[in-house]
Amino acid sequence: MDIRSEQIEAIVKEVIANMNKGSASTTVKAPAGAVPKTAKAAVLTGLEKFEIKEFPIPEIGDDEILVKVEGCGVCGTDAHEYKRDPFGLIPVVLGHEGTGEIVKMGKNVKRDSAGKSLSVGDKVVTCLVFKDDPEITMFDMNKVNVGAADCYGLTPDDDKHLNGWFADYILVKKGSTIFNVSHLDLDSRILIEPSAVLIHAVERAKTTGILKFNSRVVIQGCGPIGLICIAVLRTMGVENIVAVDGEQKRLDFAKEMGATGFVNFKNYKDRTELANGVKEAFGGYLADFAFQCTGSAVAHSNVYSFIRAGGGLCELGFFVNGGDATINPHFDLCQKEINLVGSWTYNLRDYATTFDFLKRAKAIGIPMEKLITHKYPLSQINEALQTNLKMEGLKIAIVNE
Ligand SMILES: [Zn+2]
Repeated sequence: MDIRSEQIEAIVKEVIANMNKGSASTTVKAPAGAVPKTAKAAVLTGLEKFEIKEFPIPEIGDDEILVKVEGCGVCGTDAHEYKRDPFGLIPVVLGHEGTGEIVKMGKNVKRDSAGKSLSVGDKVVTCLVFKDDPEITMFDMNKVNVGAADCYGLTPDDDKHLNGWFADYILVKKGSTIFNVSHLDLDSRILIEPSAVLIHAVERAKTTGILKFNSRVVIQGCGPIGLICIAVLRTMGVENIVAVDGEQKRLDFAKEMGATGFVNFKNYKDRTELANGVKEAFGGYLADFAFQCTGSAVAHSNVYSFIRAGGGLCELGFFVNGGDATINPHFDLCQKEINLVGSWTYNLRDYATTFDFLKRAKAIGIPMEKLITHKYPLSQINEALQTNLKMEGLKIAIVNE
């Protein structure tokens, strides 16, 4: 059979499948003949330069999975790599916030990393790759976070090339972690990876014992991370949330996500006045707990003044080295007895918890899908990254046709 007739067969099957979708409980699996011979991938070949290249889709091994990519979020990490190549990965297929549909599976693959069954047609996301120790399971991985393992979209190029989500297809190898998330819609699935960062941060915050039902919580920085933080807190019964940012548009968004008080730091001339602004927004009280969600050293210095004596702080804004911040250890930490925790990325268990968070956020009416402000096809990936660099919008995603 030549490629054309193969494609026609796939189209006919898809049309029939779509017709069947309306009729109650029929589960539709991807047609077996739908896999083409080649796949497109966006290869970062130089600074600020993606080229769309075509690679053969290899025969898959007994422990491998071929996934047809539906979409992938653009992360701040992608933007760093695109602009400066700090990880020295060029040439590389980026994209680690991706999701898609299983189109082919090796015969040894039966279940996902949480024990759920896997079959062709299931929607999946990948998490960490334990290339040195594929026997590690999610249940003894509590302390190891993403920084200690590989992940698709941030690994060096190999002879098959299909190892990042900014592509048509991705080849999931033995030793990878993969989750069946067929119960979530595409937008929710694109938001899993950034949301896992907040699930982890809130779990870190809970270790202080301060975060309680309806605590007063301040969120400093209303980019995607701060906004998702508000959503996570809302799903766990925290409703007294003050958002701090320098842009009115982002504060308006914080309101949609469920924040109840708003402070634009540009309206205050110094740290003391700004702290008073936060206090006023809580009706005369300082915060019990603060999440610092910006990469700004000044923001880190300021956030201590928003917190009451005995309160807590989770610093999660410094994903990369953002320089030194000045604090006064006596006044900011000791005298107030601040409980400080740092948070970075997530571990496997946080990842699985995130699926439940996204379901719950939807159930209580938090408009998570609005976080994805821009969608580009793969062919416009350079435009997508430029939009990210200009700090326009919130979450930018590549969505394949
Ligand atoms: Zn990311």
